Amino acid sequence: MTEKINSTEVTSQEVNIMQYHIITVGSELTLGLAINTNAPFIAKRLGQEGYSCTCQISVPDNIPLISKAIRDSLSVSDGVIITGGLGPTADDVTREGICEASGRKLVYQPWLAEIIKERYGQRSTPLPDITFRQAYLPEGAKAIIPTIGSAPGTILESDGKFIISLPGVPREMTEMIEKEVVPWLKSKYRMSEAFKVRVLRTTARTEASLQEQIDDIMKSLDNVSVGILAYPGEIQLQLLAKGPSEEIALEIIKDAEKRFVERLGNIVFGFDDQTLEEVVGMLLRKNNLSIAVAESCTGGLTAKKITDIPGSSDYFLGGIVTYSDDAKRALLNVSRQTLQRHGAVSAATALAMAYGVREKFGSEIGLGITGIAGPTGGSPEKPVGLVYIGLSDGTTSYTNRYVFFGSREIIRLKSSSAALDMARYFILENFEQDRGDAS
Ligand code: ATP
Ligand code: MG
Repeated sequence: MTEKINSTEVTSQEVNIMQYHIITVGSELTLGLAINTNAPFIAKRLGQEGYSCTCQISVPDNIPLISKAIRDSLSVSDGVIITGGLGPTADDVTREGICEASGRKLVYQPWLAEIIKERYGQRSTPLPDITFRQAYLPEGAKAIIPTIGSAPGTILESDGKFIISLPGVPREMTEMIEKEVVPWLKSKYRMSEAFKVRVLRTTARTEASLQEQIDDIMKSLDNVSVGILAYPGEIQLQLLAKGPSEEIALEIIKDAEKRFVERLGNIVFGFDDQTLEEVVGMLLRKNNLSIAVAESCTGGLTAKKITDIPGSSDYFLGGIVTYSDDAKRALLNVSRQTLQRHGAVSAATALAMAYGVREKFGSEIGLGITGIAGPTGGSPEKPVGLVYIGLSDGTTSYTNRYVFFGSREIIRLKSSSAALDMARYFILENFEQDRGDAS
């Protein structure tokens, strides 16, 4: 329930749920030419503070449409957060849209013009006049001075509602959310409850299999809502706990997390923003191990993921993409006999690739990935999605067989995640006794 705020100024009202809408402005968004990443970022970040986004809309760079979206939103919410359309060019018309919606004028702010001049000061060329469109603010709005970029954001309070406007460039927007919007909202809307979010990241095979394992815990939890979400190669358990204070909410979520982790064991690979490749990297580094990968159907994706992590040169020695049989033989020493007898997509070939790449680079661990990513090339015996992954440490060999569903892209993503997960399990079971025993 939203508590109606009738005073013209919203002051430290104690509200159970402050509801707001997100309006993303940009014709590139409504035409499907750019992906809207701002709205999910804002919804997630403010959700962590307990503020619920109840609607998200995208509108083109068009004054009447922006204005209508703002008015419609304010009729059913406490405020709107708008991104985009604050730049200097003629198509950036969010300022005008806000003025039309709130019945205010745009007012030139000489001090803002000075800041913009200073911002561009280092550049030798004179500033084009249009730059100073950014020095206009809706009457009565507070400016959010950018520390990166040149477009100021604004906070306008109007008839007890707020209209917050931020630049479209994601980096500029996220900075203003952290430094200005979150503190401002906290000063205006004191939550009667505190919220804590925790994401448990797992390599469970399906949402249903995960749900089955934890169903009783989910049902027994008070004050914790649990969402199960599937991504390629990963199932997430998203926990949202609420309590009368920060400390209590934290206690509640920690307790829930402990119960889930105890039940699920090693399929939980990380928390919050931790990625699988980050965790594998951490385990390799901690145990002084190195790794090399031989890839067929993933085309280098596993090596890419591993090297996405800064400092991965400490443990990643190299990767080889061998697509043809000849390449597998020439670069990884996979024998002609193995390829002929078992085929390129087989446990024997995956293992020979793992063995070969380990020898080639002199790493402790070698991974080999071979499969059929589709959409063509499948057969009844070897369907699209069939993937073998081999792991060799020089003395022991392991192979896993998978049949993944989905598009070519999804099968490749799942294959590389499965390979990383195999390396993770190998390290946990052989080098991390305390955790390895839990699985
Ligand atoms: P600028 O000062 O750069 O002109 P602006 O506030 O006018 O800032 P836009 O011109 O609307 O912002 O967009 C700038 C860039 O940010 C564009 O590349 C645009 O695609 C991107 N962008 C805008 N809105 C979003 C969004 N919702 N999600 C992701 N990217 C966005
Ligand atoms: Mg734009």
